Amino acid sequence: MQGAFSENDLSHVVEADKAHLWHHLLQHKPLETTDPRVIVEGKGMRVWDQNGKEFLDAVSGGVWTVNVGYGRESIAKAVYDQMMKVCYFANSAGSIPGSLYAEKLISKMPGMSRVYYVNSGSEANEKAFKMVRQIAHKKYGGKKTKILYRDRDYHGSTLAAMSAGGQDERNVQYGPFAPDFVKVPHCMEYRKHELGLEHLSGEEFGIAAANQIEEVILREGPETVGALCLEPVTAGGGVIEPPVGYWPRVQEICKKYDVLLHIDEVVCGIGRTGTWFGYQHYGIKPDFVTMAKGVASGYAAIACMVTTEEVFEMFKDDSSDPLNYFRDISTFGGCTAGPAAALENMRIIEDEDLLDNCAKMGDLMRAKLEGLMEKHSVIGDVRGKGLFLGAELVADRDSKTPVDEKLAQQVVGEMGAQGVLIGVTNRSIPGKNNTLCFSPALIITEDDVNKIIDTLDAALSKVFA
Ligand code: PLP
Repeated sequence: MQGAFSENDLSHVVEADKAHLWHHLLQHKPLETTDPRVIVEGKGMRVWDQNGKEFLDAVSGGVWTVNVGYGRESIAKAVYDQMMKVCYFANSAGSIPGSLYAEKLISKMPGMSRVYYVNSGSEANEKAFKMVRQIAHKKYGGKKTKILYRDRDYHGSTLAAMSAGGQDERNVQYGPFAPDFVKVPHCMEYRKHELGLEHLSGEEFGIAAANQIEEVILREGPETVGALCLEPVTAGGGVIEPPVGYWPRVQEICKKYDVLLHIDEVVCGIGRTGTWFGYQHYGIKPDFVTMAKGVASGYAAIACMVTTEEVFEMFKDDSSDPLNYFRDISTFGGCTAGPAAALENMRIIEDEDLLDNCAKMGDLMRAKLEGLMEKHSVIGDVRGKGLFLGAELVADRDSKTPVDEKLAQQVVGEMGAQGVLIGVTNRSIPGKNNTLCFSPALIITEDDVNKIIDTLDAALSKVFA
């Protein structure tokens, strides 16, 4: 590490952290007796902490974000140059990077047409929800306000996004939530017994799981249902790729009942699964696509809500209705650093052929994780797509009972001690976070994959000796 900070500066940083910082998603009691980890520097796939310890980052900044890796000078320069030209103007006016990124993004999303800039994934989802509600009032006389979301999916931390949240661990004690959000069942083949579909497999299972969405629409009344919001591959709910047959049936159902399809690509978007967007693996045509994390790989805060020309047309001025436009703003949606960074981020992914690397390295890593199942019976299932993989740990393969989450945490801790950062998730059932997460930057090499797998092998042997 070539840090600019002296040891004294860094010990002050740790004290300031302990005295004043409220970390995200963390229980703080342990920090009374141990130091927090402060990430001081990053380069490529690696980061260094305050003690100079090096880590191979297998989770792209902890939450699937730094898709092109750390220390990209060209992104920093693009942001710097843009900031020196003009840092900000409210997005009721345009900007050079804002227009150029919108054009570039849409070129990767056939069928989509309009880009709305915001700051976070939660906010992008909120914008789509608001549009669905406004369409319900404008087009359907105040009906069709219901938004369906899926068990185990997550759409953000704000209250309406949480109202569409399928993960109990995140929601308990934060209600009451917004009305007219209705849950549909998950589509996880590994836990299909929870759906009463254990007798089905493959495509038959996928179609039956999608049909459970139709049952909810019929129960609620199709005239009340405006949209269905789904993650293409569920992230925090346990890294779940929907089964074969699921997506085409979902699309059919949406069409049949005039339900808008909102795909939440906050995690999968911008290359994470080996295509620009997760939905593009399945040939579906969404009405809304939201994205955040990989858009600028964390070099600037930017998120986008993308929709079709058909949706956009519904919001165009109408002389008989002065309220018929999207009466919404996001102040920092006018920051130019975001689209400037996003443009360069996309150029890097194209020029370095990172989608291809993601698909290849993802296949390799998945095969190696599956290989570990022979040796470690604690791995009940390996799932995911591209460089977005999960390994679910179970106490026994027949009952599929999740391991105590403290054990999963120990694996994460042991890997950290050996210099590899991974994550753990499955926020569906409080206290049962038992799915190890792997989502390295798209630049990963075969040597790095081997290091992650070897370290995992050793950590599992140690924790489950
Ligand atoms: N949607 C999904 C699928 C997510 O995983 C997340 C965050 O992890 C969000 C939305 C919320 O994004 P943000 O934290 O940027 O608000």
